[in-house]
Amino acid sequence: MTEPNVTQSLSYYARRAYKRGLVGGTGGNFSARIGQDKMVITASGLSLGDTAEENLIEMDISTYSWQPKAEYIPSKEYLFHADILRLRPDVAAVLHIHPPYATTFAVLRRDIPMVTDAAFKQPKIPRVPFAPSGTEELQSNVVNALEEYADCKVLLLEQHGIICLGSSVRWAYDIADLTEELARIAYLKEMLSSK
Ligand SMILES: [Zn+2]
Repeated sequence: MTEPNVTQSLSYYARRAYKRGLVGGTGGNFSARIGQDKMVITASGLSLGDTAEENLIEMDISTYSWQPKAEYIPSKEYLFHADILRLRPDVAAVLHIHPPYATTFAVLRRDIPMVTDAAFKQPKIPRVPFAPSGTEELQSNVVNALEEYADCKVLLLEQHGIICLGSSVRWAYDIADLTEELARIAYLKEMLSSK
């Protein structure tokens, strides 16, 4: 299922993620399904805070081909975005960001402790072994994690950030926000408990 106005929604939530501090600089990338074999994805080298419908790139999720659009090219992470949308028909949007608390656990290669009853109901957030951004190695590590944790909605990319999978852009955004809240509470709990 695709949302009506999915490109509007993707642009709105990309800008909102940037404003909320879930990602900085030109980091992060968002994609959404727009048809059976197609997605739109945010552009490479552009801040999520500047995302607009005019700079979203349309791509084929099976062939990884895209339509040129002015000076914009797809985010270099298009490989795992396309694979997730192809392998998980229940997923309509894929958000990749670097929220500070969740990413701190990722940098330490530690699980985010599930200290609250997170609304996205996932017993564990799988960790994806580190591989450099935009590589086939990272793509393959993400696919392996998806195969092992079939229904997962959040993945923790070691030394990097998180990926959130939602049945809509809005739900994927909420999962991202809730994951960062969970990581922040887990961090604060550790700080207070260690006194
Ligand atoms: Zn990243």
